[in-house]
Amino acid sequence: GLEVHVVGPEAQPLVRVLGEQLSAMVRKIHEDKGVVFHLGKKGVRIEADAVILDDGTRLAADLVVAGVGVRPRTELAEKAGLKVDRGVVTDEHLRAAPHVYAIGDIARFPGLDGQLVRIEHWVVAQRHGESVARSILGDEAPFRDVSFFWSAHFDVTIRYVGHAESWDRSEVSGDPMKHDASVRYWKGARLLAVATVGRDLEALEASRDRGA
Ligand SMILES: Cc1cc2nc3c(=O)[nH]c(=O)nc-3n(C[C@H](O)[C@H](O)[C@H](O)COP(=O)(O)OP(=O)(O)OC[C@H]3O[C@@H](n4cnc5c(N)ncnc54)[C@H](O)[C@@H]3O)c2cc1C
Repeated sequence: GLEVHVVGPEAQPLVRVLGEQLSAMVRKIHEDKGVVFHLGKKGVRIEADAVILDDGTRLAADLVVAGVGVRPRTELAEKAGLKVDRGVVTDEHLRAAPHVYAIGDIARFPGLDGQLVRIEHWVVAQRHGESVARSILGDEAPFRDVSFFWSAHFDVTIRYVGHAESWDRSEVSGDPMKHDASVRYWKGARLLAVATVGRDLEALEASRDRGA
């Protein structure tokens, strides 16, 4: 029953992560529920009963939720002499130093292609924990899991397998607006990630194939 306004600098919600087609779907799902988007805009000031946007728009508001990203707090790691690069840098065992591990949002670890990545997803943090527990118990297998996250929008859930910070081509199969689609994100000949809606089996298969 609340009136909801979403303000963001991007052209579509989540477009940087999901690309044009799925972000258009996300926008429609929310608009169909009455959410009003103010995109290409930023909030510049919060007053007692309103948010002021950079084009001067005044949005009356009783409650403001600011989702403006997170930054890992690495001071303690730095003081301890660990290598820090916008996160705590680890090897492929998630080890930051002998007997010291970094997992979850704070860890910058080698991804499947060997490049260091820092991934803010629940399942990644969970699997990091499992992997480090195995390492501590003497299993020296490196962390090689494929990244996964879900993103729920009312009754529609996007499942995303892999990790694509940027891509040069995306391929859509099905119809996102009918909530039955998959999108493949490519860089050159490399498939970086697969996002699915209403196609859980395809997400599982992508996870298996990307890990292979
Ligand atoms: C609003 C929001 C929505 C999200 N939605 C999704 C989603 O849809 N799907 C998804 O996959 N991921 C989502 N995430 C990301 C996901 O929650 C994180 O990736 C995950 O929680 C990371 O786990 P973590 O253990 O690394 O860190 P956290 O879950 O942040 O846990 C760190 C813990 O350390 C504690 N702590 C901090 N400093 C100290 C200290 N000095 N001493 C002791 N304890 C300390 C904190 O209190 C906290 O409990 C979302 C995150 C946010 C904020």
